[in-house]
Amino acid sequence: MSAVAEVLSTVATNRDPRCSELPTCPVCADSMVAAEASAYVSDHVISYLWTCDNCGYGFVTKHAVKHRFTCN
Ligand SMILES: [Zn+2]
Repeated sequence: MSAVAEVLSTVATNRDPRCSELPTCPVCADSMVAAEASAYVSDHVISYLWTCDNCGYGFVTKHAVKHRFTCN
């Protein structure tokens, strides 16, 4: 009798400390919480659209994507 045990180790511990780099509004210096939208500029660059809740100013930041992008 043989018992085959398949152990799938799918522990997702992708804690990238750089994910905590949230931008601040260049107008009123309010800190951004979440991006309005995101779009890939190229294979390795992603851009985010931010809109300030305080003054309504909108701006775009670009980030280099290294491996996976899991910030949630
Ligand atoms: Zn602002």
